[in-house]
Amino acid sequence: MAVIKVALPPKEQSAFSIGWGYFYSISKGLMYTLGIFFEQFLGLRKSNTVEWPEVPATYGERFKGKHFLTRRDDGKIRCTACFLCATACPAQCIHIEAGQTQDKEVEKFPVRFEIDILRCVFCGFCEEACPVDAIRLGPEYAMVGEEGMKWVYTKDYLTDRRELNNGITSVKEENTKHELIHTDKLTNINYESDAPHGGQHKHQH
Ligand code: SF4
Ligand code: SF4
Repeated sequence: MAVIKVALPPKEQSAFSIGWGYFYSISKGLMYTLGIFFEQFLGLRKSNTVEWPEVPATYGERFKGKHFLTRRDDGKIRCTACFLCATACPAQCIHIEAGQTQDKEVEKFPVRFEIDILRCVFCGFCEEACPVDAIRLGPEYAMVGEEGMKWVYTKDYLTDRRELNNGITSVKEENTKHELIHTDKLTNINYESDAPHGGQHKHQH
């Protein structure tokens, strides 16, 4: 006949034992916090707190922040409106309207290119999917907007926003397209938008 071992229920702890456990744990946590406070107060430990926005925060080089659309070295927008980024986007927040161009190298260009940044999860899939390195996630992390439409980034905004970008622009040249370009390195670039926002075909790609 099989013997079944039954575990005894744990002994009930006394109120003193439970109280002491709480007191010990809380005291330990407070002592640790106080230790860090005095270390920082005496300058023995560097504070990790960043007083943003007065002090800019620094992130790693691979940080994926606000998007931008890149340009070719002749100043034209690099995007060919292939919709691969919009297809790959899990949040479905990229909206593209394609137009024809007379440029023989490419068939189309984005008359309209918008990103609903409130839906974006900053996964970088759009960047990975793009076959021509036309969309990138930049190092900008500060995003503010007071109205709904401020959160929909238009083609113009994605392409030209030097003033918001700590000097980092969307302009890329063939041989430096994987590097961030700073404004002080730029010369003779036409920052005029290729086509006005809203689907008008006034300019070619
Ligand atoms: S980062 Fe991800 S979620 Fe945001 S637009 Fe690109 S693919 Fe979509
Ligand atoms: S950004 Fe790249 S993937 Fe997206 S439509 Fe333009 S060329 Fe295609």
